Amino acid sequence: MRIFDPHIHMTSRTTDDYAAMYEAGVRAVVEPSFWLGQPRTSPGSFYDYFDSLLGWEPFRAAQHGIAHHCTIALNPKEAGDPRCLPVLEELPRYLAKDGVVAVGEIGYDSMTPAEDAALAAQLQLAADHGLPALVHTPHRDKAAGLTRTLDVLRESGLPPERVVLDHLNEATVDEAADSGCWLGFSIYPDTKMDEHRMVRLLRLHGTARVLVNSAADWGRSDPLKTRAVGDAMLDAGFTDDETDQVLWRNPVAFYGQSGRLELDLAAPESGAPPTTHEGNSILRGGE
Ligand SMILES: [Zn+2]
Repeated sequence: MRIFDPHIHMTSRTTDDYAAMYEAGVRAVVEPSFWLGQPRTSPGSFYDYFDSLLGWEPFRAAQHGIAHHCTIALNPKEAGDPRCLPVLEELPRYLAKDGVVAVGEIGYDSMTPAEDAALAAQLQLAADHGLPALVHTPHRDKAAGLTRTLDVLRESGLPPERVVLDHLNEATVDEAADSGCWLGFSIYPDTKMDEHRMVRLLRLHGTARVLVNSAADWGRSDPLKTRAVGDAMLDAGFTDDETDQVLWRNPVAFYGQSGRLELDLAAPESGAPPTTHEGNSILRGGE
């Protein structure tokens, strides 16, 4: 089974996770930029983080035979913090880079006017740069958050086929599907969606325009949840082809709209991955 995890925060994960993901069939990931779990206090810490998503993390992933791309944005949680707003001015410099396959994560956290402004500005940036957008739907007040998100999307210059609405569930999937956007589902170990609820949704809605991710980060999460969905699909009678569509071809089609996906990567056992990144290896002190 080949797997493309379209939303996972590898910066927060270990090398054991990379090895287990490769073993499970994961060959490609997209890492959206998001918040650190605590507020950043200056724009500079965003730029170092963005640079690591474009440099060090793809290098680390390549050691494990996994292609790594990222999405760049001022995340919803910090979009209302005046200390962080200068980041919006710097985004065009990052959105021009080859490893960036979308603008994201953007969307609402508390649905404030400042978040409205940041969301509209970043949707415009996606349109200007010919990039898709990864739009997070809020974890609290999900239904109202989705409706307001769709209003802003309709006013933006971005067509729905270039947008994925993420963290959907049974309560929001119908409204999201009617919008024409791609449908993103995050599978968690103990809350929100699990792999069995996901399979029931796939039965009802079909496999088109659906992206399934682990959204694994520094919280309780599981980077192998994409594989769990693949196994649950096969157990439920979905075909290999349908499973491949959800776990590989759909994310390739969505992020492929950036024109920047690079999926040919040497297997780690070949010894071909680069061994240093800007002079630094994963061996910490050198070889
Ligand atoms: Zn995320």
